[in-house]
Amino acid sequence: MTSAPASNSTAHWRHLDAAHHLHPFSNTKSLNAEGVRVITHAAGSYIFDSEGNKILDGMSGLWCSSVGHGRHDIVDAISDQLKTLDYYNTFFKTTHPAAAELAAAIAEVAPAGMRHVFFTSGGSEAVDTVIRMVRHYWAAMGKPEKHIFIARRNAYHGSTVGGASLGGMKPMHAQGGLPIPGIVHVQQPYWWAEGGDMTPEAFGLHAAREVARAIDEAGAENVAAFIGEPIQGAGGVVIPPATYWPEVQKICRERDVLLVSDEVICGFGRTGEWFGCQYMGVAPDLITFAKGVTSGYFPLGGVIVGARVAEGFIEHGGEFNHGFTYSGHPGGCAAALANLRILHGEKLVERVKSEIGPYLQARWLKLAEHPLVGEARMVGLIGALELTPDKARRAKFAQEEGTVGLLCRDISFSEGLVMRAVRDGMILAPPFTLSFAEADLLADTAVRVLDRTYAELQARGWL
Ligand code: PMP
Repeated sequence: MTSAPASNSTAHWRHLDAAHHLHPFSNTKSLNAEGVRVITHAAGSYIFDSEGNKILDGMSGLWCSSVGHGRHDIVDAISDQLKTLDYYNTFFKTTHPAAAELAAAIAEVAPAGMRHVFFTSGGSEAVDTVIRMVRHYWAAMGKPEKHIFIARRNAYHGSTVGGASLGGMKPMHAQGGLPIPGIVHVQQPYWWAEGGDMTPEAFGLHAAREVARAIDEAGAENVAAFIGEPIQGAGGVVIPPATYWPEVQKICRERDVLLVSDEVICGFGRTGEWFGCQYMGVAPDLITFAKGVTSGYFPLGGVIVGARVAEGFIEHGGEFNHGFTYSGHPGGCAAALANLRILHGEKLVERVKSEIGPYLQARWLKLAEHPLVGEARMVGLIGALELTPDKARRAKFAQEEGTVGLLCRDISFSEGLVMRAVRDGMILAPPFTLSFAEADLLADTAVRVLDRTYAELQARGWL
């Protein structure tokens, strides 16, 4: 007779997980066959699994652990808040100190003229709020026919019906009858994959003009807004050419189409500016945020609303029939306030811009010299490597797309570094608190990972 696994063992947790837990973005059958990794604790830039492995968290969890793991200041702030006021809603003519203070604190760091905040539980709800808020705004302004959203292919805007519809992920649209009507997807500004013979600058303008074409085709009188991530995250850290965003802004202004910057990843310092739109040199009408606002210590997201929409919405919108039980949850607001205190106190956004960001970038961009890497790119602390069998041609592997990426990702994990695979590229977004020594370790490990991947591809005859 075999005895049951110990209650604190990997086998025990794997058993419970396989029996009862359905994972996001996972194939349950193959995951259960393989067995999940169990992460038991985290500190600073590292996570630890139940087998005792120490792994450098090159993805900040899911792009959220900006101030690093195990910050007791934030944990204590949440605990103090919950002991004082565990929960109350912000619906019925009520607020609470943390929600009011956080809205003001976000308005302080937001781009000029953006002074109002609507809270949600996370990024997808923030994106859905934008759909409803923007359409309601135009209706309140006497233009209800302005309802169409322009978004991009290969964009990620969340997993709710609205967010997944705005997003441009084909595998998501293929499940559940998406997208919903009223959304037009246009070309993404992804030079490596789609730029052809154009220079990045020319391609940036070309991709922006696709936005103009889509608006003109739908009729500007029918178009509510354009939404885009300043840098596409889940789509593979697609950093658009510098020409792209200013041209998109000009196109939207000329046609009276609102500009929405989805900053769920880029917001709160990831690019070295407080918001990615500032890095790109544009001034959106609305910003969605989540993740880095609390560094992941508590679920919280929201929408920052610029003067134009806020004024119309407040003056003419009447009651907005929209909100979430956890809009402005006291615990989330306390976490965000404590997180903002750390970002300010330790000057972490400046650190990303002028210290650890440039330091890691210098090492990361050098990875382009590796025979497997066609392009290395990084802004602030968000970057990507494109793996290719032929740099000059920016060629794809003959194997099914994603096969080489997953192989490299698994090798990276086994070397003690979390990098995420997107198609056949690797992406990275480490904590802002990454030390210089950890940046060196990260880059040295990445070289080893690439060497091992290269050797494995050769051994399989794939190169
Ligand atoms: N927008 C963007 C740009 C995102 O990256 C994400 C999450 N990765 C979302 C929206 C959805 O956020 P959440 O997972 O918190 O719902």
